[in-house]
Amino acid sequence: MRKTLLTLLFAVAPLIQAETALEVQRVTENVYAIVGELEQRNPDNYANNATFGLVVTEEGALLIDSGGSFKGAEQLDRAIRTVTDKPVKIVINSGGQDHRWLGNSYFKARGAHVITSKAADADHHARTSDHFNRLDQLLGKALEGTEESYADQIFEERMDLKFGGFDFILIHAGPAHTVGDIFIWMPRQRVMFSGDIVYTERALGPGPAQDSASWIKVFETMMSYQPKYIIPGHGHPATPEQARADTYDYLKFLRQEVAKVLEDGGDAQDAIEIDQSRFSYLKVHDRISRRNAQEIFNQMEFE
Ligand SMILES: [Zn+2]
Repeated sequence: MRKTLLTLLFAVAPLIQAETALEVQRVTENVYAIVGELEQRNPDNYANNATFGLVVTEEGALLIDSGGSFKGAEQLDRAIRTVTDKPVKIVINSGGQDHRWLGNSYFKARGAHVITSKAADADHHARTSDHFNRLDQLLGKALEGTEESYADQIFEERMDLKFGGFDFILIHAGPAHTVGDIFIWMPRQRVMFSGDIVYTERALGPGPAQDSASWIKVFETMMSYQPKYIIPGHGHPATPEQARADTYDYLKFLRQEVAKVLEDGGDAQDAIEIDQSRFSYLKVHDRISRRNAQEIFNQMEFE
């Protein structure tokens, strides 16, 4: 009898999941960041390894990015319930990565209207099976219930949205981390939701857009709005100075150093060996920095 119980416990134990909590942080009145962990996607974080945005209005909630899976969307919704009982009426997908849009089906089934840029929508369609193949490996059973569900409304470069007494300006200024990245500006609150255009606290990866030159320009365009608060795609809400230091300065540094390697007739190995210790304070930098240098080298070789 005892043996049976032990066998049973042993069999059940690996299935028990310790969910990684999302941290809800108030930024200013009615505006929140929902901060996921900085590590890789795994069954405990449901691919919610990113930061999401929330604005609570009289008409309902507006959510920026729907989570990395169906269970991820459920988890986001539970986090939203800690600050409001209003339903999510609008979801904005700020870019092409899985955690920006794979929770769409959950929120659409509950009445949400999903908006993204034309380029991000095309990116979602183009990379759906890539996302599922990768998440299948990283999440396993935690991916259950996830289905592709695309935006209801797309815009080319700019969309002005009024919702629940708040103004939102959605801008796609060019490729950054992904080809369709957008930033969302709240002019009265001076809040900027940057999506993956800004990483704070952790090192960015160059991303599938493979266009670090455009990313730098998009960042400059975003900063020209003079935001007071930045809610990044990864990391806690930040000041413009921190966003600049952790994202823009790092991108510029890598491009400058790789340009020197190219000028000297160096190869990818020389790029990999660039001294990046100035940015070693960023989380996951030790794991990602050499690959970043190589990817920027690959891009710049053909510029
Ligand atoms: Zn991301």
